Amino acid sequence: MNVFVVNCGSSSLKYQLIDSETEQVIAKGLCERIGIDGRLTHKPNGGEEFIREDAMPNHSQAVAYVLEALTDEKHGVISSLSEIDAVGHRVVHGGEKFANSVVITDEVITAIEECNDLAPLHNPANLIGISACKALMPGVPMTAVFDTAFHQTMPEKAYMYGTPYEYYKDYKVRKYGFHGTSHRFVSGRLLELIDKTETESKVIICHLGNGSSITAVKDGRSVDTSMGFTPLDGLIMGTRSGSIDPAVVQFLSEKLNCGIDEVINILNKKSGVEGISGVSSDFRDLDAASIEGNERASLALDMFAYRAAQVIGSFTASMNGVDAIAFTAGIGENNFKIRKEICEYLGYLGVILDEKKNAVRGEEIKISTDDSKVTVYVIPTNEELAIARETVALLQ
Ligand code: ADP
Repeated sequence: MNVFVVNCGSSSLKYQLIDSETEQVIAKGLCERIGIDGRLTHKPNGGEEFIREDAMPNHSQAVAYVLEALTDEKHGVISSLSEIDAVGHRVVHGGEKFANSVVITDEVITAIEECNDLAPLHNPANLIGISACKALMPGVPMTAVFDTAFHQTMPEKAYMYGTPYEYYKDYKVRKYGFHGTSHRFVSGRLLELIDKTETESKVIICHLGNGSSITAVKDGRSVDTSMGFTPLDGLIMGTRSGSIDPAVVQFLSEKLNCGIDEVINILNKKSGVEGISGVSSDFRDLDAASIEGNERASLALDMFAYRAAQVIGSFTASMNGVDAIAFTAGIGENNFKIRKEICEYLGYLGVILDEKKNAVRGEEIKISTDDSKVTVYVIPTNEELAIARETVALLQ
């Protein structure tokens, strides 16, 4: 089965065409600057990269260019659109309505629309992607795979906030959590690796990328996670502040003489390790600056690792123990210094890192020693493959 996996952002569209039997990527690519000018980068597996700069006034046009590229005589990988058997859409917010992936129907679209105010930047873009694909590939089954769904198993005591109960009842103000597709994929793999798929288990997944979150997974189910009502909460990230005292918002709004919207924008886009260091949101730049003696870059890196270790500690308490920890995503898979720094805080749990094995980038490997009380792995995430697998499972 060929599954077309679509991840629509407000001005971008990432895609992969995946052969579900071999789990190979047949082609992948990215449309950028949708609504501004438009640029498609298309990469067939084993073939040459193809770039098309052409007006993309909307996502429908972007999808049309992608489908043209996929079926193009020179750069294409399929001879006609009939070779696309299904479309799997990444959808950011499923609210409390979706605890699992679903086949898209008109009712599902309405229910996703009802979650729009919970993710006003993301869900409308995801819906545009769905309607663009529906128009250009009528009759092809489509699925929605939600970032929030995996976390719907959190117990009430974990997802409720200490705010008046009626705000939960009336407005659904609560912790939702994100990166669920990645946390589900990596925790599933970790349980296979430690041979605990069928038994009681307590694991912690650290998805550390531009956006970062950590999830506690007990017996295969998410029981707590560091992101909250929005992806702004929890860890310090590339440009996001993570958790702060909410009173800072009002205080800054007065000091900066701006609205709360602007303060939230600062917390989302100008904070995190970039805001702290004044150097970059990219950990490679921070590592380089830190080596050159930039103290604020070193501080940003220390703060990142410290906060991550705090969250791991708190989730260990939540689950009353931890069998294994996995690192994933850009930083988790590649940055061995950060992994080492985080694991050093976890010595009290009996974590012992094998420094030689930890010196890897981007491959699946156990990085703790055999006598470490907690097993630690690096497991590359693959959200697109996870979406393709979910799609196939739903349609079969
Ligand atoms: P996003 O959340 O945007 O998907 P990523 O998971 O790609 O982000 O993570 C981006 C971060 O991962 C950057 O800070 C970058 O430094 C780090 N990173 C990504 N690839 C590498 C690499 N090959 N080597 C070192 N660091 C990397």
